[in-house]
Amino acid sequence: MEANRYTMGVDVGSTTSKCLILKNGCEVLGSAVISAGTGTSGPGRAVAAALEKAGLQRGDVCCVTATGYGRNTFGGADYVISELSAHAIGANAAFPEARTVIDIGGQDAKVIRIGANGKMENFLMNDKCAAGTGRFLDVMARVLELDVNELAEKDAQAKTAVSISSTCTVFAESEVISQLANNVDICSLVAGIHASVAVRTASLAKRLGVMEPVVMTGGVAKNAGVVRALEKELGVKISVSADCQLNGAYGASVCGWNKVKE
Ligand code: ADP
Repeated sequence: MEANRYTMGVDVGSTTSKCLILKNGCEVLGSAVISAGTGTSGPGRAVAAALEKAGLQRGDVCCVTATGYGRNTFGGADYVISELSAHAIGANAAFPEARTVIDIGGQDAKVIRIGANGKMENFLMNDKCAAGTGRFLDVMARVLELDVNELAEKDAQAKTAVSISSTCTVFAESEVISQLANNVDICSLVAGIHASVAVRTASLAKRLGVMEPVVMTGGVAKNAGVVRALEKELGVKISVSADCQLNGAYGASVCGWNKVKE
């Protein structure tokens, strides 16, 4: 019987660090998400936490693949792959039928087309403007004195969505502050904020062309309010994996497995 082999994917993001360890390319043995991204202790802590959960030592891992915004600053990787590749591989492994992957992270949004062969065919990315990214939601949540993980619940209680007319994050923040000063209902404001992210993301997706099935990945996919608003805007059903924020680390780990298997 062949010995077990363990591959590690490390996604060094702009706001969070993620690590996921696979046994023989399929079983997730341990994973961790640390709320500190590139240039911090986050990547090291994510690796240590995932190893501990897996009950492994660093030396037990035969291949480490780094990805994410800060991938080139992560020392000790055997391979480095782009975030686009990592998300395409991860989404394809979790949802083999998926043809469009929408990833919204802390400071960018990507739409990736996957071919019938599971390979990335095309993509479009917004990494120039905070609107339509996790950063926009982080800023708005802070103004509303909420945690980002409370936004979906507030959205679900909204009777209506207050339209946010500014597309720039800074102006939209002022707009939300003035709505609050006018005693506008917070739930309706949250729904309006989600609709604003959905409009931005949908316009990126439509430029690329949306082919179903559609999968959403990245930390913002944890927000069911954004997912619902985007489904409405695109008129399609969107699948989200339970570990959507770990998708890049998962893709990197699968990529490492594909290399060691060769
Ligand atoms: P990056 O890889 O760029 O660091 P992530 O994919 O980890 O980004 O996504 C980070 C973003 O996800 C945050 O900016 C935040 O808005 C959002 N997020 C993280 N956790 C949650 C949660 N529990 N509920 C809603 N949104 C979340």
